[in-house]
Amino acid sequence: MTSPLYGQMMDVPLLASSLLSHAARHFGDTEIVSRRIEGDIHRYTYRDCEKRAKQLAQALIALGVEPGDRIGTLAWNGYRHLECYYGTTGMGAVCHTINPRLFPDQIAFIIDHADDAYVCFDMTFAPLVDIIAPQCPKVKGWIALGDASCIGEHLGQYLGNMEQPVLSYETLVTAQDGNYEWPQFDERTASFLCYTSGTTGNPKGALYSHRSTVLHAYGAALPDAMGASSSDSILPVVPMFHVNAWGIPHAAPLVGAKLVFPGKDLDGKSLYELMESEGVTYSAGVPTVWLALLNYMKQADVRFSTLKRTVIGGSACPPAMLRTFEDDYGVEVIHAWGMTEMSPLGTLARLSWKQKQRSPDEQRASREKQGHVIFGVDMKIVGEEGQELPWDGRAFGDLYVRGPWVIDRYFRRDESPLVDGWFPTGDVSTIDADGFMHITDRSKDVIKSGGEWISSIDLENIAVSHPQVAEAACIACSHPKWTERPLIVAVLRPDATLTRDELLAYYDGKVAKWWVPDDVVFADELPHTATGKLQKLRLREIYRNHVLPDVAEKAV
Ligand code: AMP
Repeated sequence: MTSPLYGQMMDVPLLASSLLSHAARHFGDTEIVSRRIEGDIHRYTYRDCEKRAKQLAQALIALGVEPGDRIGTLAWNGYRHLECYYGTTGMGAVCHTINPRLFPDQIAFIIDHADDAYVCFDMTFAPLVDIIAPQCPKVKGWIALGDASCIGEHLGQYLGNMEQPVLSYETLVTAQDGNYEWPQFDERTASFLCYTSGTTGNPKGALYSHRSTVLHAYGAALPDAMGASSSDSILPVVPMFHVNAWGIPHAAPLVGAKLVFPGKDLDGKSLYELMESEGVTYSAGVPTVWLALLNYMKQADVRFSTLKRTVIGGSACPPAMLRTFEDDYGVEVIHAWGMTEMSPLGTLARLSWKQKQRSPDEQRASREKQGHVIFGVDMKIVGEEGQELPWDGRAFGDLYVRGPWVIDRYFRRDESPLVDGWFPTGDVSTIDADGFMHITDRSKDVIKSGGEWISSIDLENIAVSHPQVAEAACIACSHPKWTERPLIVAVLRPDATLTRDELLAYYDGKVAKWWVPDDVVFADELPHTATGKLQKLRLREIYRNHVLPDVAEKAV
């Protein structure tokens, strides 16, 4: 007799490979379309993808890769990268996605710290591999994501003098027959390794498990999360080298959606054309990418014929962008928040039945926030004395989260980042009575004026809502009386005539008087991190000696 204490259901581990197997078996002929770095469009199906992922697993085993070994990837969004996702994790190794936009030294640090056994790379990154390989002596070999001839093309210029072997992915994969069963193992086994962008100090690794990856995929696919469906054609602009492209490579096979990969061409025209030709209904990306796409569409005077929804996150989605997508192009925007340490999804701004009874303005105000948690994430805001703050939409404090897809500790670091079992996000936010969270700042970016906090994101959003402003950042400038006051650094649109005083006057009536910035400077461009976020640390360095007008007057 079995004990009635335990349920009597099958004990099937939650493994990443099951996502692809499900798609291959139940949506076998659904397409995966990729714009390749070779320049052409490649198409095949989930069935083909699983076969090649299995061939890759066999090839890795033949190379001596063992369960638990890390396999790095330096690659754009494409079918071979997807095969790496599943081929590595499926055989029990760890897929370590590396952000190629980081500085070469940081990339070398990450590869060395992760102890990657092999690194798969798109040929566009051959010059980068050439630079970093000498700093990564533990790597046994570099696998070029192409056939032997594409390595040959680069050999003279790059890759010729490398100590470690350079192998052709296609040669390795096509040498195998794909007759391979995905092994079953403990669902707590490590699956993916993603490093944070590390604006300060060295990047830190978040090591996901198969269990967290599959639970996150379920959560991501829910109707009030990304709401992915087998009727969707999904184009993730968000890169697969940054937090698993927000889980889309897992959620899409889970629901059987068509996948469209843009490769390296992320300019407005290329994205628009691919969306149109592949009937894309759903996309996801950071605001900077959408800015480029919207600019292109305006200039070219074109419209979307199939795109219905897009997830925007990674940085605050400016309300002006949300309005343009929805009012001018009829595309629903889903504002989302998360972080590498959270796999990454935490909250999405999708309205409840109750919220949908309110006026259009109130509904939009809610949708401009970062939104409601999905099951799998709990959150709280905490004040300076560690006390939990009320959910009244006004009190703002440090945001803490917990859940089965939130990290417990960083890879290869002993000390736990948790506080009483909660992970401190480093973000500052409010939560309203609907449970909608609103990020006001990163804790280190918040502006402290006379002991009160001013939200730099709110002030940036107002600046970019001005028709002549393309992009804006708000940083703290030191002030002898108030400690800090807000300074706006703005990039104007071409042919703009906007002056400093006109932009400052634009704040009148939009925020409390003491929130109005003290000064505006115009710049040609703003610095961004490797993941497209504003680099405020760099901006604060640039404008460290900026003297605010009232301070200058008093000094005279
Ligand atoms: P990363 O780990 O690189 O994905 O960065 C995570 C951080 O990006 C978060 O802690 C936030 O500071 C910021 N972030 C992500 N999404 C949003 C959003 N929708 N609004 C504001 N900040 C965001």
